[in-house]
Amino acid sequence: MIELKNIDVTFQNGSHEFKAVDNVSLKINKGEIFGIVGPSGAGKSTLVRVINLLQRPTNGEVIIEGSDITKFNRKQLRKTRLNIGMIFQHFNLISGSTIAENVAFSLYANNYPKDKIKDRVKELLEIVHLPEKADAYPANLSGGQKQRVAIARALANNPDILLCDEATSALDPQTTQSILSLIKDIHDKLGLTVIIITHQMSVVEQICTRVAILNHGTVVEEGAVSEVFASPKSQEAKQLV
Ligand code: ADP
Repeated sequence: MIELKNIDVTFQNGSHEFKAVDNVSLKINKGEIFGIVGPSGAGKSTLVRVINLLQRPTNGEVIIEGSDITKFNRKQLRKTRLNIGMIFQHFNLISGSTIAENVAFSLYANNYPKDKIKDRVKELLEIVHLPEKADAYPANLSGGQKQRVAIARALANNPDILLCDEATSALDPQTTQSILSLIKDIHDKLGLTVIIITHQMSVVEQICTRVAILNHGTVVEEGAVSEVFASPKSQEAKQLV
């Protein structure tokens, strides 16, 4: 469903060029929960942002459902992005808006029928088990609750793909567990393809089916989570496990 082919991302820092992603090729199957793990600075966030072209690759192809989206025009890209939800480490909620307004924002932005927005927001807040917080503001929510709102917002337009960029890194272990269970439940119910970016192997162990290990912008190992845990081959995988 998602294929990254020979992806490079080079940043220009003054006269210095820095390759944050270096010739990465990955295939992610429809409906799987795929982990991309590695230490800080490995290029994980840059790579995941390539999937919805928040970051354009310097070289390579991003193939989603058979089409190379780097070749898409604005209209085609907008449509593709509607199909890709994303959540972040720091939730990125609008502090001056209520929880319901935060979730509704994605719907307004994408011309959802106005008379159906209220019901859709209610439905989304029920999916993330927060219907009672509709009129609260982000400042009155815990970190885990904020991430639930962000998940509701990411699901607003019924995407097939959910990108999670260090979504549990700002949360305590117990809240991490509950957010991962929620992501797993949503994945099972809605049949989403989920990509999890994390520096924590425990997150991969709990939720992912396959994993790629990234270091210095390159994939150093890839495989089923059970295999990588049972017999890590690369030095990086051995350290992480
Ligand atoms: P990770 O998510 O694994 O921590 P990142 O993808 O955020 O890694 O960053 C990889 C490397 O690319 C880091 O060294 C970072 O400083 C660098 N980098 C990321 N974004 C930019 C940018 N916009 N300009 C220059 N360097 C960047």
